[in-house]
Order: sequence, then C-alpha cells, then structure tokens
Amino acid sequence: MARVNLEDVTKRYGDVTAVEEMNLDIRDGEFVTLVGPSGCGKSTTMEMIAGLTTPSEGTVNIGERDVTYLPPKDRGISMVFQNIALFPHMDVYDNISFGLRLRNYEKEEIDRRVEDAARVVQMEGMLDRMPDEMSGGQRQRVAIARAIVRNPDVFLMDEPLANLDAKLRVHMRTELQRLHKELDTTIVYVTHDQAEAMTMSDRIAVINEGELQQFDPPLVCYNEPANEFVAGFIGSPSMNFTTGQLTQTGFSSEFYDVSFDTTGIDVTPGDGVTLGVRPEDVYPTEFIDDAADPTETIDAEVDVLEPMGDEIFVYLMLDEDNEGGMGGTAAGNDSLLMSVSPDSDLTEGDHVDVVLDRAKIHLFDEGTSLAITHSVSRSAEATADAQGEEAE
Ligand code: ADP
Repeated sequence: MARVNLEDVTKRYGDVTAVEEMNLDIRDGEFVTLVGPSGCGKSTTMEMIAGLTTPSEGTVNIGERDVTYLPPKDRGISMVFQNIALFPHMDVYDNISFGLRLRNYEKEEIDRRVEDAARVVQMEGMLDRMPDEMSGGQRQRVAIARAIVRNPDVFLMDEPLANLDAKLRVHMRTELQRLHKELDTTIVYVTHDQAEAMTMSDRIAVINEGELQQFDPPLVCYNEPANEFVAGFIGSPSMNFTTGQLTQTGFSSEFYDVSFDTTGIDVTPGDGVTLGVRPEDVYPTEFIDDAADPTETIDAEVDVLEPMGDEIFVYLMLDEDNEGGMGGTAAGNDSLLMSVSPDSDLTEGDHVDVVLDRAKIHLFDEGTSLAITHSVSRSAEATADAQGEEAE
C-alpha cells in the first residue's frame, strides 16, 4: 500500500498541454478513478505515475518517495492495460508467474504467489489452460493475477475492461471491487466510462482538457458538481441545462421562469446563470408530491419517449415563455429531459405540465461555469401564501 501524490504536474507535447498543473493526493489503499472524455489527459496522468512518461514540470510521489525520474520497475507499481497481452504459447501458470521467474524467485515462493493470485481472481482450477482456451474475461483475470503476484504498493489500471462485452464489464466491476477489498492496495484506474467510475471508486478525479475539475467521492460529484462540466459529464442521461438570468425572485429564461428565495445567492440580478436539473428531478404534475419543493408548472409537449424498462425517458419541448405557442430556436434551451416511471401513460404529442424539484436545482455562473448553488428553496413569501391558501 502507498499514497500517490501529484504536485503541480504538467505535461506538454510541443504546443499541446496534455496535463496542466495537476494536483492529486491519493490516499493509502484508496480506489481512485481518473475519468473524463477522450483526449482529456487521463492516460498521460497515469503514464506519469507509472514512469512511462516524464512530467514537463512538477513532482510525482509514491509512498514517501519522489519517483518523478525513477523507471517503472523501481516504483512499486503493477500495471494492467486495455490490451491484454498474454503470452499465447504459455498456460495460465506460466503467464502469471513469468515476471517472478524472470526475477529468479524460488519455486515454492512462485507456487505460493501464483496460487494466491489465482484464488483472488477465481482462476484456481485453470492454471494449465492456454490463452486461446479462455474467454475475454478469463484472460483479463489472468492479466490481473499477473499484476497481483508482484505484490505492488499501487495498481495502475488503464481501461482494463474496455475490450470486454457489456455484461462481462459489469461483472468485472464487482470483481475489481472485491479485489480491492481483499488486497487493500491503492488502485488508480482510468476510464472514460462514468458508470464504471461511479460504481467502483472511493473518489473520482474528473478531468477535462488536461485540468482537474473535481476530486471527490462519486456521490459528491453527482449531487454537488463543482462546475457545469462535471454536472454534465457525471450522470446518465445528462443533466438538463437552461441558460437565463437571475432575477430578484428567481430564474428567468426564454422558455420558463422558476421562483425561489434569492437571498444568500451570491449573484447580482441580471447576471447570466445556467439552471441545471437532472431528468429524475423533473416531474409531471400528477407526481408533484414526489418533489420535495415543486416549482410552478411548466407547459411542455412530449416530443419523444424512450422506454428503458425500469424507467421512461421523456423528451419535452417547451413553450416559448411558457405562454402558449410552441417555438423558439435557442439550441437545447427549448427542451427538457424527464425520467418517469414505466407505468406512465404519456404518449408522444401529449401536452403535459411539469415541475422541477427546487431542492435539486443547480445554478452555474454563465461566465465561469462554476456552481453557485446545488439547491434552492421556495421564498418565505410564497410559503406564507401557500400556507394561507391551505388554511382557507
Ligand atoms: P486520454 O487518455 O484522456 O484519452 P491522453 O492522455 O491520451 O488522453 O491525451 C491527452 C492529450 O495529449 C491529447 O490531446 C493527446 O493528443 C496528447 N498526447 C498524448 N500523448 C501524446 C504524445 N506522445 N505526443 C503528442 N501528443 C500526445
């Protein structure tokens, strides 16, 4: 086990800055995933931890050692990559033990380590199988076992499941979590798949264009995204975004207004803000009771339905100004995606009134895209009015 610490690490390739001033402090025994779109700098970051690439600036520490200029073999790491390169002419035992034999370990020690590693990846009974007699998942497990026998302080895994089919990927996710628990080793894992990042990691480092956007536990990234990029990247389907302005009484856009208490929100009325709300926090009015703090209704028309089995994604077109008359051209602003239960009887073309859950409304500064708040609430006046109405 060891801590991995990147301090102000930058990597430039000519004019391209692949990674910029990355600071990451990965704790001993932690499972950390680097996630972000293709080309954002995940692999470069990993290669600098592994020693396959030297940073242009900054320091890489593993344990208490500065390893910035050490070769991979002296870093106490083991790597598993996307392309599983097993030796085709060697059986499982020989593949797993290859590195140990190269280092002239005693036969008993090799046997013990291979057996242990094979048990961890549940391949005990298959030590004499050849690679072409195994499934993709089994081959990947052998590759992981080969990394385990080296007893590393840190595991580095770069998209190790990318070449597996969807069902096997989900299965291997659970296996990797089990492996992490059993070995209690620091794991740094690279993926572009946010579902993989969400399900396995203690913390995820969301990267975009070479820069770290947020480094937090998965649910913190989900519920309290630091900026619009993280909000849009984490969560599937993606969060809805509507650009508009902050007013004295809430949010106003070309397609709908939402009232809320603006005291304590650090924006001047008239400033551009983007409202973000996840599809599961949009409700048709028949389910208004499910929203903790429902907004005013928004008129919409059902454009497209996507039944997913356990839920239905409903693509809504919004009325301009919500005063009747469909229209508007602002790209993306005139639509909302809502997820509803599969019992819903909505059909395409239906008019439907929807509400947003204020408690789950995010606001982002239009200029910096940084989060302003992750929740708003009904103003005291509106609450008093509503209570008055209820009393009547
Ligand atoms: P990711 O793993 O997130 O897909 P990479 O770390 O591979 O991203 O790449 C980050 C950026 O650095 C990309 O723009 C890529 O083109 C560039 N890059 C990576 N490796 C090299 C290299 N050896 N030479 C030049 N540019 C590179």
